[in-house]
Amino acid sequence: MYLKYRFTPNDLEWHQTILNAFENILKMKIKPVLVYDRKHFSKYVYKGSTRPNAIWAECIKECGTIWLNPHLSSEPKVETVNTIYHECLHVKYPKLSEREVRKLADKMIPVAPSMTTKKSKFDITHKK
Ligand SMILES: [Zn+2]
Repeated sequence: MYLKYRFTPNDLEWHQTILNAFENILKMKIKPVLVYDRKHFSKYVYKGSTRPNAIWAECIKECGTIWLNPHLSSEPKVETVNTIYHECLHVKYPKLSEREVRKLADKMIPVAPSMTTKKSKFDITHKK
């Protein structure tokens, strides 16, 4: 277990605050839920070689479950805000492509290009 990468109780508080704001702004029918334990995704089979450490987040669109990689705790906060918004867009607009979601999220919450180059893939999304 890498304690170096760990969200603090303070982090969890502002994650939830920002999530609530996005839920209201996007008028989301499916309420997004942040989880920090990947056991919520244990029944999903991973295609190819994508490992959890290689992505920033994971989400199940139908139930709004969103997992955030603790690696985000060592990155500028804007990257977590961008990631939470990005995952909310996947839940709100399940048919949008990854490229479209990324474009919308980056327009609203601009991040340095380095954020996307640090991980081989931004996230994983699941349908039930
Ligand atoms: Zn995505």
